[in-house]
Amino acid sequence: MMDTTTVAATRHVPADLPTRIQHYIDGEFVDSADGDTFDVLDPVSNETYLQAAAGKKADVDRAVAAARRAFTDGPWPRMLPRERSRVLHRIADIVESRDARLAELESFDSGLPITQALGQARRAAENFRFFADLIVAQSDDTYKVPGRQINYVNRKPIGVAGLITPWNTPFMLESWKLAPAIATGNTVVLKPAEFTPLSASLWAGIFEEAGLPQGVFNLVNGLGEDAGDALVKHPDVPLISFTGESRTGQIIFANAAPFLKGLSMELGGKSPAIVFADADIEAAVDATIFGVFSLNGERCTAGSRILVERSIYDDFVERYAAQAKRVVVGYPHDPETEVGALVHPEHYDKVMSYVEIGKSEGRLVAGGGRPEGFDEGNFVAPTVFADVPSDARIFQEEIFGPVVAITPFDTEEEALALANGVRYGLAAYVWTNDLRRAHNFSQAVEAGMVWLNSNNVRDLRTPFGGVKASGLGHEGGYRSIDFYTDQQAVHITLGAAHNPTFGKKETPAEMAEDAETAEG
Ligand code: NAD
Repeated sequence: MMDTTTVAATRHVPADLPTRIQHYIDGEFVDSADGDTFDVLDPVSNETYLQAAAGKKADVDRAVAAARRAFTDGPWPRMLPRERSRVLHRIADIVESRDARLAELESFDSGLPITQALGQARRAAENFRFFADLIVAQSDDTYKVPGRQINYVNRKPIGVAGLITPWNTPFMLESWKLAPAIATGNTVVLKPAEFTPLSASLWAGIFEEAGLPQGVFNLVNGLGEDAGDALVKHPDVPLISFTGESRTGQIIFANAAPFLKGLSMELGGKSPAIVFADADIEAAVDATIFGVFSLNGERCTAGSRILVERSIYDDFVERYAAQAKRVVVGYPHDPETEVGALVHPEHYDKVMSYVEIGKSEGRLVAGGGRPEGFDEGNFVAPTVFADVPSDARIFQEEIFGPVVAITPFDTEEEALALANGVRYGLAAYVWTNDLRRAHNFSQAVEAGMVWLNSNNVRDLRTPFGGVKASGLGHEGGYRSIDFYTDQQAVHITLGAAHNPTFGKKETPAEMAEDAETAEG
């Protein structure tokens, strides 16, 4: 029998791994119309382990047609919220019951540490449960003008939602869009990230088993510029929910403009963690280590810039670097692993190029390359640069890996200017025990989400989204319901119809009174 060290140091290949992945359209697994496929690598060996169907316009057309039929003729949009809710709860039950297998596959495909992949699988189940509950508790506005009028909101699903997702926590991020989109009665076409299609291929079986009607969920794999592009440009897809890089968001924004589509954009980040001298320093070090090294640093809300008040700066940097050096880099399947392998050699090269840039921009105090003992695969040692100036590229640009920049500040004003001095505005983490400063600083910082004396822990009811280059619109809780529904206003006259009368002779005073009640 192998001891645990040997097991952990060996590449782990899950049992029953598929060798090909197809699209799922109208309840059937199908190949691309032109038979094309693309390679999928595992990030530990960088060997191709499966072929996925490479969707193009023809495949997207077929998927959208199926989703459109399910929307116009199928039962799903017309079912009672309680009936849809039951299906969503069953989906959550199935995901929960398979969390270990889901985590195993996700970890193998993406390089995420197994314990973190397991947490993400459970969060995916929770997303379905949350929206299952929310739609049955949903209330809508009614306004009355006594004796004259009642106005109410008739909330309706919109149609076929196009969902385009990234590779960093694939299954969980897909659930984040799938759950509210289908909970509200829409039908969907999902285009998952091409680096990590494995876990997405499991949705079809889960949905079938849970009783989701045929055609409600459709999946087209493929490259962004082919399958993603065709989905964005499809005239029968009125909504696009996209999570990915800010640059891709700009392209999608432009491509969706001629169709005036509803867009929700969750984009990149370069989030600051601001540590004031009066903070609980140990808690701040723990949280900011986790904040940038969890999920391999491939985390949109990573606190990848740490701003530290000068009086505690040297002590903070010393403690931080020492702890960063102890972060356990390991094989993704090993439960001891804290940082696994980056998703793909292309992304590894990008992160490593920033590590090299950082060496001339800041003072390297931890990491700085490949960790010892890992000659193959996309492993990067947790890397810490101190004394990083605000015009450095590693301060300004999203690296999306286990690399952090630390910068000192002298005053609260300077801290705010540094925090806001980038194009992004996704998250911010503020560490201080001064109540007034905590609130004033949080309100002034340009970020869609702020955590005070806390790591990133989010109640699903709260809005999620960024400002500036980090996003457009907010999802989360009832804001997701708002994005995936139309709120039609219905106005009913209770009294005698009060019509402005054109073409009858009236006094100027009567005409003015009629004009006052007309609008739009
Ligand atoms: P990406 O933009 O390269 O790809 C995201 C998705 O868009 C993929 O499915 C891709 O195939 C598709 N795509 C690419 N080009 C397209 C096009 N022209 N038209 C339509 N679709 C296209 O992003 P990524 O590298 O997969 O993910 C990492 C990025 O995602 C980082 O910037 C990260 O910050 C961001 N992210 C943001 C959040 C958030 O909630 N704000 C969450 C996770 C990740």
